[in-house]
Amino acid sequence: MNVLFASFEAVPFAKTGGLGDVAGSLPAALNALGHDVRVFMPRYRVIPAGLLDGAEFLFSASVNIGGVEKYAGISRLVRGGVTYYFLDNEEHFGGDGVYGYGDAGAEQSVFFCRALLELLPRLDFAPEILHCNDWQTALIPAMLRRQYPERPLKTVLTIHNLQYQGIYGMDRIRYLTGLPDDCFAPGWGSLEFYGAADLLKGGIVYADAVNTVSPTYARETLTPAYGEKLEGVLASRGAAYCGILNGLDCGLYDPRTSRRIPANFSSRRMAGKAACRRALLDEFGLAAEGVPVISVVSRLVDQKGLDLVAGCIENVLRDGAATLVVLGSGDPSYERFFDGLARRFPRRVGAWIGFNAELADRVYAGSDLFLMPSRFEPCGLSQLIAMKFGAVPLVRETGGLSDTVTSYNEVTGRGNGFSFAPYAAADLEFTLRRAISFYTDRPDVWRTLIARCMKKDFSWTASARRYGELYAGLTSAGGPAASSI
Ligand code: ADP
Repeated sequence: MNVLFASFEAVPFAKTGGLGDVAGSLPAALNALGHDVRVFMPRYRVIPAGLLDGAEFLFSASVNIGGVEKYAGISRLVRGGVTYYFLDNEEHFGGDGVYGYGDAGAEQSVFFCRALLELLPRLDFAPEILHCNDWQTALIPAMLRRQYPERPLKTVLTIHNLQYQGIYGMDRIRYLTGLPDDCFAPGWGSLEFYGAADLLKGGIVYADAVNTVSPTYARETLTPAYGEKLEGVLASRGAAYCGILNGLDCGLYDPRTSRRIPANFSSRRMAGKAACRRALLDEFGLAAEGVPVISVVSRLVDQKGLDLVAGCIENVLRDGAATLVVLGSGDPSYERFFDGLARRFPRRVGAWIGFNAELADRVYAGSDLFLMPSRFEPCGLSQLIAMKFGAVPLVRETGGLSDTVTSYNEVTGRGNGFSFAPYAAADLEFTLRRAISFYTDRPDVWRTLIARCMKKDFSWTASARRYGELYAGLTSAGGPAASSI
């Protein structure tokens, strides 16, 4: 199957979260199954220059957005068996970061989707499927169906996080896209969302198949508690909406070979893990004699359950029961909280505010327990990476966290981590103390948990096959393969 994979992020070129990991590894996994999946993404000014060495300029064209002609350059690079097409435009992709904020986000998205569809016939590649990811690329299905009806292409929309929908003024989107008026009429079959234009909703309505990144999150998003007001629209897609669990680039996150951690290790040779732990404590000037090193690597936003951490972590720290390392950036109030905590507990808490991919791997490898008590979690890759690096996960039972972590049960002996369900600081604290007691009192159990985490198969193989089936179902006569979510 020939597939063009449209994404605003892909490792190693650009990453702000899990989408970057997925777009950087799923296409290669699909290609290993015999498909030809190529990535179409922005050529951001902030992509480190060396990564684009060898990129070949293909052509430039002008693309009309709301009556204005805009430059669009296309270059191509083959890396790791995947062909990347980079879309260049100084105005939209020449900023200090990846995403444009406010209205700039709408302009960036419309430009990207229009340029992809306009320039597609000139690429040296004829896809059968356009695979869109998140709201930034979600206009493609509506534009394709309504403005290029002669093209026999199918579309897939993958929702990596339903909370981010790209909601803008209706007149603005109508003007920028030139989509017909009925695309904005109130109802479940349009982009209209409470009087505004919702780009993600347009993708959900117009894509031939829609999926999210774990079966549990797919089910949860059909309920008002998790549906972000789109639960009815998602439900209206019936069997065309499903959940496919993300995999991990196991080559990139392999403690046996990673060059980003101070010492290598495996589930059978754990001396390197102890060295990584010591190095992490030294790096942050911390002590953790006889207590676990707990880590958080996260965007510091409400989604991640950080108010629960704030609500109980000091009780645990005051007892001297654990040491904490936090790496993250986001909401200034959480940044201030963790910074302040590090100042008040200088030997017990280390905080690094910012985005730092190499430090992230050192934190995973150097910690014993990884904390991720999310309010909701489409899939979550951080807990998978933590497990690969031998840090036992402690999660809230939601979305992909439920699909990847099973709480340790001392009666049956089953489980690969710790979890709790109610969204409450008291429940997190209880579970944290439970995990700590296993770390301090039952090293045999702890060793078993680490081994289970490290051996668990998080490779893309099974999930890439499911995407392959999804593609095949769209191009065969019968429409999307029926899903049971
Ligand atoms: P989300 O996509 O919601 O941010 P995921 O768990 O799916 O959450 O993916 C997060 C990815 O971003 C992981 O690869 C994680 O290691 C990485 N990450 C998050 N915060 C940081 C940070 N401050 N520095 C480096 N990497 C980070």
